[in-house]
Amino acid sequence: MAGIALSGVSKHFGAVEVIRDVSLDIQPGELVVFLGPSGSGKTTLLRMIAGLESIDEGTLTIDGVRSENLAPGRRNVAMVFQNYALYPHMTVAENMAFGLRNIRVAPDVIGQRIAEAARILEIEALLQRRPSQLSGGQRQRVAIGRAIVKEPKAFLFDEPLSNLDAALRARTRVELAELHQRLKSTMIYVTHDQVEAMTLADRIVILNNCRIEQMGSPVDVYARPASRFVATFVGSPA
Ligand code: ADP
Repeated sequence: MAGIALSGVSKHFGAVEVIRDVSLDIQPGELVVFLGPSGSGKTTLLRMIAGLESIDEGTLTIDGVRSENLAPGRRNVAMVFQNYALYPHMTVAENMAFGLRNIRVAPDVIGQRIAEAARILEIEALLQRRPSQLSGGQRQRVAIGRAIVKEPKAFLFDEPLSNLDAALRARTRVELAELHQRLKSTMIYVTHDQVEAMTLADRIVILNNCRIEQMGSPVDVYARPASRFVATFVGSPA
């Protein structure tokens, strides 16, 4: 399990400022939600932690190791994307195994991990199907399964439920909370949905205009908003 620390992190895309002076300590096992409107920098922050975006200024450490000494492939964090990002020509089992071959996990261990993740996510019956033969909800389970089998130090979720219908979104949200209880792993979860943030988070980090507007427990930010923006954003329905 990873502790993740950002200190004075900033980022520009060309002349456009995207992240300004973000400092944040995420404890091992904590479920932190990045909540904010579209364009506030949530995904960019997540991608920097994953190593998919560079950092212009400041420092990022994962388990005490500075990011410049950690190539993306060595961070052992698992990202789950909104659009699932499954390989269409591979079966579910092959999709789940794919990332493990690169990190040299033995074939029998790969089999055990896939079986265990499939059991947790109740997708055992789908292992030989291809993504085109799955519903959206089933695809997202496979994407989560592909993350679980990596046994990552941290899970990074980028709006994982936003392509699901409301009922499935609510159910999957509960299942993700149960998954966090079960695995006790560090999770960072990006969303613009206040209900998701309130129900999932140990701590909510509210982003607005490239910077942290407030962070605290769901009760804290709801009951004691630090600004008019937080009061309006947290208090109003998605
Ligand atoms: P959020 O996840 O909160 O919607 P993003 O992190 O995706 O926000 O984007 C923050 C800002 O950075 C937006 O203004 C977006 O247009 C810009 N941005 C994101 N990725 C790129 C990129 N690769 N090149 C240029 N601008 C980008």
